[in-house]
Amino acid sequence: MANKVQHSTIHWFRKGLRFHDNPSLLHALRTSHHVYPVYVVDQNWMRDHDIRYGANWWRFVIQCLEELDTRLRKYGLRLFVVRGSAEDFFKEHIRKWKITQITHDVDTEPFYLIRDVAVKKIASDMGVEVVTHVAHTLYDIDRTVERNGGTPPLTYRKFLKVYNEMGKPPKEKETATAEHFANCTLPTEALQDRNFDMVTLEELGMKCDFPAKFVGGETEALRRLEKSLEDKDWVLKFEKPKTSPNSLLPSTTVLSPYLTVGCLSARLFYHQLDKIYSKAKNHSQPPVSLHGQLIWREFFYTAAAHTPNFNQMEGNRVCLQIPWKKNDEHLTRWRNAQTGFPWIDAVMTQLRTEGWIHHLARHAVACFLTRGDLWISWEEGMKVFEELLLDADWSLNAGNWMWLSASAFFHQYFRVYSPVVFGKKTDPKGTFIRHYLPVLKNFPKEYIYEPWKAPRNVQEKAGCIVGKDYPRPIVDHKEASQRNLDIMRDVRKDQKETAAVTLGYGK
Ligand code: FAD
Ligand code: MG
Repeated sequence: MANKVQHSTIHWFRKGLRFHDNPSLLHALRTSHHVYPVYVVDQNWMRDHDIRYGANWWRFVIQCLEELDTRLRKYGLRLFVVRGSAEDFFKEHIRKWKITQITHDVDTEPFYLIRDVAVKKIASDMGVEVVTHVAHTLYDIDRTVERNGGTPPLTYRKFLKVYNEMGKPPKEKETATAEHFANCTLPTEALQDRNFDMVTLEELGMKCDFPAKFVGGETEALRRLEKSLEDKDWVLKFEKPKTSPNSLLPSTTVLSPYLTVGCLSARLFYHQLDKIYSKAKNHSQPPVSLHGQLIWREFFYTAAAHTPNFNQMEGNRVCLQIPWKKNDEHLTRWRNAQTGFPWIDAVMTQLRTEGWIHHLARHAVACFLTRGDLWISWEEGMKVFEELLLDADWSLNAGNWMWLSASAFFHQYFRVYSPVVFGKKTDPKGTFIRHYLPVLKNFPKEYIYEPWKAPRNVQEKAGCIVGKDYPRPIVDHKEASQRNLDIMRDVRKDQKETAAVTLGYGK
């Protein structure tokens, strides 16, 4: 590293909270003698952009940041946690720290883009170069769109076609190690500046009511990845629709929280899977395989980045305009696991307490809130998910909510999940319900999915009277779903052109 350029660089962590496969961090380390690693916490900016991550999410992210900070300190640097506006911070500290370069990952969400353009302008006005790399997605999304003729592929089938043409995504980059940090230092004053110490939940005005089931950080992410890939046979045969939504031990990888904040690289995950596939004769294929899951992620990221107003119905060209009804009482009862349908309430309890639920469990509660039973807008559900999920992700959350509400991407709207039958298939005894809703734990299995049907003496014996200790169902599923289906049929008749925009084949 003898002839390297001697930059003073701010490396801006946003997602990408990792040392492995982090090309923009590597660039900073290779070209600089001073590197200031920064993370910006700006609650006003979040509020302005309607970003509503809750306490569980913040705890997870703080755990990630703490690990980054500890490792950076080992290498003689530290993490600077900035409070307030990124623009103000850069304006002040480019000068104060004599910064000549800024590095960060490419992000594609509109609120990041607005801020990145503003910071880039500040930097260029001050003669500072901004160097960015794509590392959060498998491909450079703009290239994918170019390949597809300038618009995003809006069906999985079309996406696969482009994916097959593009070849495998770039390999993950080497991990930043002591060697890369060897020539990078920080002035003592900056190292000791307490104004940039770790943020706490308390400072954010938040409190976690539940213990952390999934702990944030790169070490845990890599451990979890390794563990997920240990059973090669499981990896080779993985078919998403065959995994269980209500096993007490997750039946899928639960890598999503780690991928979302970027303490795990999707490219690393992809290529590790690729290694396993390449040594086998047969393996499952997209859309149901594990590669297929990462392609779903890429699919929604690409669609979201190139579809204006992707997270709302209005002004969103892919989304059916559906006359949803406002019903705050029903929405609150859904959020708070008080619908009176044990399967739905158990999933919503798992979501609120643990921050992760299985994909098909998300199907169940999302269908129930929207086209299935309550006829409440998917945007409301998406907001609740954003607040409660550890893997809350702007693009994936909106894309999947449109899918489940049959507003876009999914077109078999007549296939409605039953809040009674769905969960029974994989958990006939209701073990999952008993775990998350202990109030129902003594119901015999005949009634665990429909406690309101239990005779009075059975309810008494179970120690739970429906209507008193546990709510009665808030809707009659048969009636509600039939009524909703009729409206949906009309909507689709009137809006054939919108539906056609995302008409492809299902998951
Ligand atoms: P695995 O099955 O092990 O898959 C591996 C990875 O592939 C996941 O970690 C994820 O990054 C990606 N992936 C899997 N399924 C999907 C999918 N359907 N769409 C896009 N990427 C996928 N996922 C999020 O990460 N953030 C969200 O905010 C989010 N909101 C959702 C909202 C609804 C209504 C629904 C139905 C799904 C949502 N998903 C979201 C997608 C999916 O449910 C989760 O990614 C998955 O359940 C995470 O668990 P896992 O890591 O064990 O998945
Ligand atoms: Mg090297």
